[in-house]
Amino acid sequence: MPSLTRAEARLRSELLTVERMEVDLDLDRGPETFHSRTRISFSCSDPGASTFVDVKSVELRSLVLNGEAVDVATLDDGRVQLHGLAAENVLECEAVMAYSRDGQGLHRAVDPADDRPYVYGHLFLDAAPRVFACFDQPDLKAPYAITVKAPQDWTVIGNGAATSTAPGQWELAETRPLATYFVTVCAGPYASVRAEHDGIPLGIHARASLADALEREAPQILEVTRQGFDYYHSLFGIRYPFGEYHQVFVPEFNAGAMENPGCVTFRDTMMFRGAATHDEVLARSNTVTHEMAHMWFGDLVTMQWWDDLWLNESFAEYMAHRSCVAATEFTDAWVDSTMARKVWGYAAERTPSTHPVAGGAALDAAAALQDFDGISYAKGAAVLRQLIEHIGDDAFVAGVSAYLREHSYGNGTLADFIGSIERASGTDLQDWVRAWLLTAGVDVLAVDRAAGVVERVVPERFPADRPHTFDVAGFAEGAEVFRVGVTVTDDRTEVDALRDLSDDVLVLPNAADLTWATVTLDPVSASLVPARLATVPDAQARAVTWVALLDGVCLGALDPRVVVDTFGRAWPHEPNESVLNRVALNLVGKVVPAFLQLGEREDATRTVATAAAGVLDAAEPGSTRALVAARYLARTTDDEQRLRAWAEGRERPAGLEDDSDFGWIAVRNLAARGLVDSDFVESVRAGDDTLQGRLAALQALAARPGAESKAWAWEQLTANRERSNYELNALAQGFWQASQDDVLRPYAERYVADVPAMSAWVGEDALARVATLSFPWVLVEPATAELVDAALERDDVSAAVRRSMVDARSELGEALRSRARFA
Ligand SMILES: [Zn+2]
Repeated sequence: MPSLTRAEARLRSELLTVERMEVDLDLDRGPETFHSRTRISFSCSDPGASTFVDVKSVELRSLVLNGEAVDVATLDDGRVQLHGLAAENVLECEAVMAYSRDGQGLHRAVDPADDRPYVYGHLFLDAAPRVFACFDQPDLKAPYAITVKAPQDWTVIGNGAATSTAPGQWELAETRPLATYFVTVCAGPYASVRAEHDGIPLGIHARASLADALEREAPQILEVTRQGFDYYHSLFGIRYPFGEYHQVFVPEFNAGAMENPGCVTFRDTMMFRGAATHDEVLARSNTVTHEMAHMWFGDLVTMQWWDDLWLNESFAEYMAHRSCVAATEFTDAWVDSTMARKVWGYAAERTPSTHPVAGGAALDAAAALQDFDGISYAKGAAVLRQLIEHIGDDAFVAGVSAYLREHSYGNGTLADFIGSIERASGTDLQDWVRAWLLTAGVDVLAVDRAAGVVERVVPERFPADRPHTFDVAGFAEGAEVFRVGVTVTDDRTEVDALRDLSDDVLVLPNAADLTWATVTLDPVSASLVPARLATVPDAQARAVTWVALLDGVCLGALDPRVVVDTFGRAWPHEPNESVLNRVALNLVGKVVPAFLQLGEREDATRTVATAAAGVLDAAEPGSTRALVAARYLARTTDDEQRLRAWAEGRERPAGLEDDSDFGWIAVRNLAARGLVDSDFVESVRAGDDTLQGRLAALQALAARPGAESKAWAWEQLTANRERSNYELNALAQGFWQASQDDVLRPYAERYVADVPAMSAWVGEDALARVATLSFPWVLVEPATAELVDAALERDDVSAAVRRSMVDARSELGEALRSRARFA
């Protein structure tokens, strides 16, 4: 189907004002389809003109404009042309719509734990017409009045407060003006915890089979929610405007969460059914405050067109961390950002698909989907931190508040936003905007010890004069010996504190991680890192150092063996949970399997297992350290006996006795080594017959090394059209295993043929993830790169698959270059 172009959207919003949307959904019609009736009241500035309405139905039953039937046979590619508009119009539509299995539109999932169905709406980015007829673009906002008919044992939750008016009949309170993509309905036998804060009714909801987890986790989620409201109310000076605030943990959700006003949806793996580490609770709290920030940025004021989605995401990303540090127990949220978010952003900056934070063309809605990446989130947030360093926090907050007031319930653009900040700060920001927001690229920051200078190296591909404000710190054994703030506006900046340093001092630019830059350590500091890193007393500085090492490996500047060596020495002593978890993840998930030479992987994996075993032995039982260590030990050890015991629920570390997800890590390891058959996997699944258990079983089955297992898994992944988005992800994650090159090699060719073809039945949002996860990343060979390069020349590869392939190909290239250089 064609994607709405920017030009079409502009014409339509000049012509139309949508006054009210009435939507009646009948969800009590079986598992395949639902009925949708829509009544759109809208005015037209040019009576007599034509436009089109968006509707993506399986059966369009009737369409009536101002009392006159429109021929439903004119529905073409999701659009019906409407001619002879009056000044005031009413369009009525009746349609049969399909539930989805790919997380877009109205998704329906059955919980195997009790065979009960759940439905949720995810209308981002252009899926609203799969649920109701509408003018689907972000700047045609309207109030929604929604009714829902559902099976009698279901609960219905939506943007407006839900009231049950009769058994199985629900009415949602009329909303404030909403963009089409923010509308949602969640329905099913959801379990609920309700509360209240400062006059705002709160609800947390999850599948009935997760009721125990919900009772256990809801207090922490509610606490962060309360802290978030108090913080944002005082910061913005604008009260939360959307009535009740519900957070619904839904099955098989593509993203982390979605900021539907009044009814935020989350992936329900965040409703932890087993043990959770400190950084996992931090990450969830960060998601909670991220979505809350969107109630103002995005929901109250929406970007006019998708090219300004950074206005939403960069802000929410920045505000979530800021509010976590200021208002919650998660005062180390920025350390987590360095390890979990900025690594992602720097990786995006290294790919050919990198783009400026703002001002991308986004010629149509589908193109905009490609920009929901580490640039729009992580870089955007870092750039906002630099903006605050540039103009001061008071001016920033005043400008933001003015922008929100001026555009409430409407839309804004980059120019509107910058105008508000310029007025509040009295500063001309045009040069700054050009350098930081409208130009892609990342500068290198390094220290020239001999000269006492901080160097800024601007990338040739993206020349710009980016000013950086950050601090440089020096560390001797166990102590910080200096820290100075610097603002760098030239390629070489003299810094007094860097003069006459002893060779015993490790110097770190950007130690507090205030700016967006690739940190290159000077040779003296680099040589000190492996032995010294564990003694650096500041978690933020250690995180920046780790990211510098990981970036160095990806850029081909640093031998990956140095990272493995540093891991063995520093990681067991790491007290910060985010650093502990994320460093291990990068090592085990990337550096060892992709960058090390074939013959060195086994030893490196043993290094991880030994370190993990040591941490597990020494850690307080049940602590985050113990949990992280146990997970990485289960993932890396070759101790079959121990793995079998853990898989079968015996002899597990304290706190993990009943933790099914922990057991599955051991099962996966055994499966990948070919030590268990499908009957064994099936027996574990029988003891964990849940949504997560079934997904874990699929992943383990796909991980087995036999040719038949691989053939079965590939068939399920690329040809079984009944598979849900999450099942496809699980199969893809299991399939590529680093030690199985020979059996996997033929599937590189299958990848470039079979995965693009899945566009025929898998939505772009879901398929983008599948295409990334099923990429033959473990086959670090020139032949793989050549196959992908040839596929990228074809014109039958959809935008989302192409983007995934370009990015994964770029990472493959990094591994190839590193292996060649350090062979
Ligand atoms: Zn967001």
